[in-house]
Amino acid sequence: MTEIITADYFPGQNCDCEARSSYECGCDADWTPTEVYKLREDAKQLADRLTALELHSTSELARLEKERDDALSQIVQAECRAERYCQERDEARELAQQMSESNQVLQAEVRDYRKKEKLKP
Ligand SMILES: [Zn+2]
Repeated sequence: MTEIITADYFPGQNCDCEARSSYECGCDADWTPTEVYKLREDAKQLADRLTALELHSTSELARLEKERDDALSQIVQAECRAERYCQERDEARELAQQMSESNQVLQAEVRDYRKKEKLKP
């Protein structure tokens, strides 16, 4: 539906039968009130603006959803790093404990050896 209204339009503009209204007219001229054309144009512009707003809010929503997903993924990564860090810390503690035990065993062996060989401690 594309209706173009020119600035010099008036109802019955192209009437050839000298009618005063659409009721008298027999030549099928356009008697549509100027206001109707203007209101149709306003309605069309409002519909276009509404469509643009809907498109904007849809893309804005998509952007916000992506931002949220990125943030969630960063949280997951940080949690994963923290978990790995805790695991490495626990492994290091265990290793230190094992080395300490080995050291005690070695010191005991050294003491026994010195005793056996009658060396000064
Ligand atoms: Zn006419």
